[in-house]
Amino acid sequence: MEQEKIKEGVLPHDSEWNDSDKVFDQLNKDFEAVIAKDILTVTEAVQNGKPLLGFFTQGTPEIFAALDLPRWFAATMQLMALRSEEAPKIIDFSAQLGLTTFMCSYVKAGVFLLQTGSFPTPTMLIGATEPCDGNVALWQMASEYRPWANIPKFLIDIPYGMDKLDIDDARVRYLAEQIKASTSFMEEHCGRKMDIDHLKQVCDESNRARQLWWEFQELRRAVPTPVSFLWGQPVYALNQVLACGKPETTEWMQRLVDATEKRVKERKGIGGVTDKIRLLWYDLTPSWGHKLFPQLEKDFGAVVSMEMLGWMPPLTPIDTSTEEAIYESLAKRYSIGPPMLRQGMASLDTYCNDLVHIVNDFKIDAVILPGHVGHKNTNAVVKICSDVCRETGVPSLFLGCDVYDERYMTANEVYEKIGRFLSATNFA
Ligand code: SF4
Repeated sequence: MEQEKIKEGVLPHDSEWNDSDKVFDQLNKDFEAVIAKDILTVTEAVQNGKPLLGFFTQGTPEIFAALDLPRWFAATMQLMALRSEEAPKIIDFSAQLGLTTFMCSYVKAGVFLLQTGSFPTPTMLIGATEPCDGNVALWQMASEYRPWANIPKFLIDIPYGMDKLDIDDARVRYLAEQIKASTSFMEEHCGRKMDIDHLKQVCDESNRARQLWWEFQELRRAVPTPVSFLWGQPVYALNQVLACGKPETTEWMQRLVDATEKRVKERKGIGGVTDKIRLLWYDLTPSWGHKLFPQLEKDFGAVVSMEMLGWMPPLTPIDTSTEEAIYESLAKRYSIGPPMLRQGMASLDTYCNDLVHIVNDFKIDAVILPGHVGHKNTNAVVKICSDVCRETGVPSLFLGCDVYDERYMTANEVYEKIGRFLSATNFA
């Protein structure tokens, strides 16, 4: 896949960005520059035969940053592929291999990238047993992919239910030991040793940026909604994927917080829209959202105030007092922090409690349960979620769409369903 297409695909289209303010425009450009730099680093590693990690999980970005190890994240490339114009062809490819059409489009994109040789050839691979069965099956396919037969591989086993831990739970140590073992694996195959003092510095910087992420999220509680919900995604990508633990990320986050704070003080809503209805989109943002959300804002004053990828759950900072404390902190954060993993591997209590917290914190008027077709786990608990919404005093609507394949349910059909729902609940 052409690099330009990948670059285009990762960002929402310009029309999605309602923020006209110059500071936000600059933040957007700077984010694009980080993506371009990341792509260049990977390309150079491939061209010069340098160590390159292929990573099939969301993982612990502080470790790669401290090792200064070029790496690509399969999940990011899958997302970029699904946002490209070639998405329908990419999604349909796995059916030609005889795989089930009910598989998540995200996983289908991974199958396409793997089987067409579109993942840059790595010199080592790390996977994990998260966040869902489909993704684990993709790892198995990657493990057995013939051209990668001689590439060393490491699998991190993540225990379920890490949201319910006692102070001294053996599961934390179990995962911490695996993260440490995966670090030794990377050291062995990249020829560099981890400098623990440097890892501590990276974790401290990551903590500072996370604190700003939290402040940004707190500002987003304001009425009117100060920034497009899409800003949650570059924040996630910078902190969790592209540039974790780097001072540039902390500086970018500070500018974002300052600009958002200014908007809150001025009581400026996004794109001149004063939210009449604040929605929670309780799933991943659809790749076809640019056809839906601006129309909902315009016709109903219905603004999405929060979605799943851009929401950060409350997490404790990384304890950098000792090496052991760092690895245990990373284990805790890894096992309950990243989206999809949190919703797929933590308990139903956490899934529902998160919903209630977001509704209360962000003054949500109505909840959309998109029911992405790949999410068998969350689709199985729709009734429970609807009941939780009713008990919390907000109406909810279940859609049953594919957030990456508009052919399954078009943006127009979703618009119609939400419009009828808002009328039925007396919002419109
Ligand atoms: S979107 Fe859901 S089903 Fe698809 S890979 Fe992520 S967790 Fe799995």
